[in-house]
Amino acid sequence: MSVGQVRGPSMGASKLHRSLVDYLYRLPDDVDRTALLACLQRWLAHFVGEFGKPIRLEYGLDKYVDLDLLRYPLSRTALEAAHALRCLRSHERPTLESLASAVSSAFRQGITVASEVDCPRCWGPDGLKFLESPTTNMLVLACDTCGRAQDTQGQEWSATEGKRLRAPEEARFAVWDRREIRPIA
Ligand SMILES: [Zn+2]
Repeated sequence: MSVGQVRGPSMGASKLHRSLVDYLYRLPDDVDRTALLACLQRWLAHFVGEFGKPIRLEYGLDKYVDLDLLRYPLSRTALEAAHALRCLRSHERPTLESLASAVSSAFRQGITVASEVDCPRCWGPDGLKFLESPTTNMLVLACDTCGRAQDTQGQEWSATEGKRLRAPEEARFAVWDRREIRPIA
């Protein structure tokens, strides 16, 4: 999560953050992932227009507004909801960009499942995540830290159409599990 980026607070971003905090204060401190993401989604549906087109595109905000959360494996992702809630509430010197980044990061972590496969390039602590190609629906394992992406055979994967990989819905895992690539339990 990128918090406190260099640019100073703008009136718009500060007000926007206050509106987010108002939404988040309805949640308990020990909030679960589903409740946190559902709350963020309600807020975003209301305020996404405040971010302006370039930021909405850059951080995929429109996509998160429309996401059907129930279709994703929220119970198996790594998002620490209570921690994310604290960070979002206390987000300092907000800019439109830093808010968009924080919100998009919560969604990304909240819907993405980690695999047991280590990143062969950076050996980062989190290993490779399960993603899929938006064009072929092919399973791709990708590293958040260095961007390495590979297919299930370990061959490097690169996007042909410049489209971003997306988090797969729960139903996709049933197919992949049969191919003996397992998420971390
Ligand atoms: Zn890596």
